[in-house]
Amino acid sequence: MGFIVNNTTFPTIMDLIFPHSCRGCGALGSPLCNRCKNNIILESVNFCPNCKALNPTGKCPKCKMMPPTFMIGNRTDLIGKLIYDLKFNSVRALARPIAEILDNSLPNIDGPVVVVPLPTIRCHIRQRGLDHTYLIAKNFVKIRGAKYSAAKILQRTNSTVQVGADRKARLAQASSAYNIGPKYTLDAENTYIIFDDIWTTGASIKAAVRLLKSAGARKIIVALLAVSRIDQK
Ligand SMILES: [Zn+2]
Ligand SMILES: [Zn+2]
Repeated sequence: MGFIVNNTTFPTIMDLIFPHSCRGCGALGSPLCNRCKNNIILESVNFCPNCKALNPTGKCPKCKMMPPTFMIGNRTDLIGKLIYDLKFNSVRALARPIAEILDNSLPNIDGPVVVVPLPTIRCHIRQRGLDHTYLIAKNFVKIRGAKYSAAKILQRTNSTVQVGADRKARLAQASSAYNIGPKYTLDAENTYIIFDDIWTTGASIKAAVRLLKSAGARKIIVALLAVSRIDQK
């Protein structure tokens, strides 16, 4: 495990000595105290991850192809550190508070609602011993109740990235990165929440949106925990 001292998204020596201390303030007891959890919720400002414009309603007027999109903060914020600790340090106890924060960032939706995590590469799930986005999704649907479910509808294909491919070819590759699992049929009456931890280029989310639409989904929302750049306008 490497250490980069000046980056708050990496574990500090205190995290390793006190695995159940709050990632925000260091208070002992749980990996995220209520006060720090509430601060994340209060400080959360929704902006479009695609164009970075403030976007309180979720639906960006400029980015027509983006469904209503909700997110919590920047990867450099405390939320980024929580994602890192859940994902790479397997701090499972963080899945529930992250799901509670997500519950606060998303609007109420009339059911049925299906949460669709973007799939993690299988060997990463094996190495880490957990599927972090699915774990958060399962905690989230438990909070929201019976009309919500989580399903691994999107699956990774084994397509490889071609070096030197032009823009059109790269877009085609992003589109073919996932497919719909053979046991799933999409229902136009359901709302599908495409869920991912960190938005980087957005190519995967956009590919997932296109794929769900082409498979018959009519109501789609995107939920993200963090975006990787802080240059919001
Ligand atoms: Zn705290
Ligand atoms: Zn936008």
